[in-house]
Amino acid sequence: MDKFMERAVELAVENVRCGGQPFGAVLVKNNNIVAEGVNELHKTYDISGHAELLAIRRAQEHVQTNDLSGYTMYASGEPCPMCLSAMYFVGIEKVYYCASVENAVEVGLGKSKAIYEDLQKTKAERTLSMIQMPLKEGQENPMKLWKEQS
Ligand SMILES: [Zn+2]
Repeated sequence: MDKFMERAVELAVENVRCGGQPFGAVLVKNNNIVAEGVNELHKTYDISGHAELLAIRRAQEHVQTNDLSGYTMYASGEPCPMCLSAMYFVGIEKVYYCASVENAVEVGLGKSKAIYEDLQKTKAERTLSMIQMPLKEGQENPMKLWKEQS
């Protein structure tokens, strides 16, 4: 097993021993670990406290950038849709994972798989309702403003 994945799994094991969920992540560039994270939902009321997101946040703070292209994520568990989206936004193009979302379901952590399945459905069929609301008459349009300024 790759040394970076070994570290991600080691972080996950330590996190479980400390009362957390079995997720650790390591963000690597040029064969060096730039940032690490573990799932911190047992410590903070912050749903974004996932291992991968925290590793991304720390790397961004460290390097002061919104572009982490060229970085590789090593996650002890297959990333959830939130962390996967963050990786898209920040430009990460490769992620290695150990346990699959199916493995997570087997131990009672089924939310990622459920969300992935929900996202396969049309907007109208999803469990989360998304309803578009148009601007009011005369209301300033931030999209138009953005286009004018860029
Ligand atoms: Zn996540």
